[in-house]
Amino acid sequence: MLRLKDIGEFELIDRIKKGTIIKPETVLCGIGDDAAVLCLSDAYHLLASTDMLVEDVHFTLDTATPYEIGYKAMAVNISDIAAMAGIPEQALISIGLAGDLEVSFVDELYRGLKECARTFGVNIVGGDTVSSPEGVVINVTILGKVEKGKAVLRSGARPGDYLLVTGDLGAAAAGLEVILKGLPVNKEDRDYLRRRHFQPQPRVIEARLAATTGAITAADDISDGLAAELREISKAAGVGAVIYAEKIPLAMPTVRAAAMAGKDPLDYALFGGEDFELLLACRPEAVKKVQEAVAGTCGIPVTVIGEVLPPEKGLLIEQNGRVGELKKGGYTHFQIE
Ligand code: ADP
Ligand code: MG
Repeated sequence: MLRLKDIGEFELIDRIKKGTIIKPETVLCGIGDDAAVLCLSDAYHLLASTDMLVEDVHFTLDTATPYEIGYKAMAVNISDIAAMAGIPEQALISIGLAGDLEVSFVDELYRGLKECARTFGVNIVGGDTVSSPEGVVINVTILGKVEKGKAVLRSGARPGDYLLVTGDLGAAAAGLEVILKGLPVNKEDRDYLRRRHFQPQPRVIEARLAATTGAITAADDISDGLAAELREISKAAGVGAVIYAEKIPLAMPTVRAAAMAGKDPLDYALFGGEDFELLLACRPEAVKKVQEAVAGTCGIPVTVIGEVLPPEKGLLIEQNGRVGELKKGGYTHFQIE
């Protein structure tokens, strides 16, 4: 069994380096020098974001494969660029690993990182490798670009805008529940939900298509649940909002898993998180155009789930014809007036 302490840092980085450059025209120098040399264009703004995953906080090695951990670490970073309507381009990856970890773990981790990077056109151009006394730590820094003046910020939402989401919500949380509790869902549902949890698909093209209509006023990727992201937009834009509970799109595997767990699937959608779908605010007259642009090209539905309100209204949820306050905590704590 080959362990990290048997091969050392330099051989490890050599293994990592293979197949890291997807868009060579944007890189003068990638892994192997003191710094990457990247090409900048006058027409774009640079986007930068970073996300860290820590063993036993964000993942556990008995539920996730190293491939899945790698895929997800890259996907969540790319999703942050998507949420600005940007194009992801370059990634730097820092890892902290224990010396007695098997080399095959890192090979698999990077297979996941590279697979996701390749899917979304991202080069891996550098990083750092250090030893950690125990536990795996992975930090990904992502760089992207967006046409000057075209970044979609959270702060742009205005009363009267419609709130839209891509895809369906709650599947990642349902997937986690299936994995942790071993719910006896059928194989197809299990595969779907596991993939939604560990291999989220950042909505890069969807965000670009939506933004080119010129009608998207705010965007956020759903990493912490719909309720939390709505709160972020509300805070940044100084607006209130209402969500129509019955309009929140749920996939059948999510609904079936929730039934088995004795939970409300809306709970997963509102408070579960990690779906990495997009929450968008859109001028009302352009909703159809956005839906057609995204569904027509990507096959991903865009659903109206609410409306932006003046700030004094606060954050509301409408269900069964009644309107209540959208609580911060779990769905079970939310009170209908
Ligand atoms: P330095 O000592 O100059 O910081 P390193 O030995 O740390 O250089 O890294 C050598 C090269 O390998 C650099 O280009 C660095 O960006 C890259 N690198 C190191 N670790 C990783 C990693 N985990 N993933 C990707 N690239 C890495
Ligand atoms: Mg270094």
